[in-house]
Amino acid sequence: MPEFIFANEALIRIGVFGGVFCLIACAEWQWPRRVLGVSQRVRWQNNLGLGLLNTALLRLIFPMAAVGAAAVAAEQGWGLFSFLGWSGGLVMGAAIVLLDLVVYLQHRAMHVIPVLWRVHRVHHADLDLDVTSGLRFHPFEMVISMAIKCGVVILLGAPVLSVVVFEVVLNAMALFNHANLRLTKTVDRLLRWIIVTPDMHRTHHSVAVDERDANFGFNLAWWDYLFVTYRAAPRETHERMVLGLPGMRQVSECCHLPSMLAMPFRKTSE
Ligand SMILES: [Zn+2]
Ligand SMILES: [Zn+2]
Repeated sequence: MPEFIFANEALIRIGVFGGVFCLIACAEWQWPRRVLGVSQRVRWQNNLGLGLLNTALLRLIFPMAAVGAAAVAAEQGWGLFSFLGWSGGLVMGAAIVLLDLVVYLQHRAMHVIPVLWRVHRVHHADLDLDVTSGLRFHPFEMVISMAIKCGVVILLGAPVLSVVVFEVVLNAMALFNHANLRLTKTVDRLLRWIIVTPDMHRTHHSVAVDERDANFGFNLAWWDYLFVTYRAAPRETHERMVLGLPGMRQVSECCHLPSMLAMPFRKTSE
């Protein structure tokens, strides 16, 4: 089973990603949360273009990716879990939860460390939010994330299956929590017990800095509760709140691929 998953990891990821993307895009069309201000064609072309570029780049730099790191760790008997002697199920669960904690901590570091914020602000400069915003990360951020993930996988000795599950879930959740999707209040409230909902993550994309400094989670909502970075809602309603960065309001500077790629090098107050 692990051999099959390892051999078909890329195919599994692409298949799940494609299915979840189509499902969420249809749901957004059916139950939109906000009226989008920027041409959807422009945003989709450029956000999807950046997503494709990142996929190609990561395969080039890390052909084996985090799953490869897990396979090497298992072969060599590296990592914390190889010493603990826990059962397979417990190791799987612990690995997934700990990897998610690392993603939360890394996201907070992206906001606090100036050089990392220059890279991460590409994600925040999107003037609208929808399923394609979940792909909108600068290639530098993708490379940094993958390097950290590979390091943590080796330190933990995370099993191959846990890494595949985590990667697939993380990708799907990034699409879900950026969705321009109206959930009922009850569904949103119940989901927030465990996972980050679109309303929760939208608050993090607010133009207001105090709202941006909240809701850093991508998968599990628990980290924001535990580290007291949770904010239930923005001051404005979700329909009226302003998204993006205060110093970058032009479509040409926020939503065109060349300017997104150049953004970390540009001097702005943001
Ligand atoms: Zn952020
Ligand atoms: Zn986001």
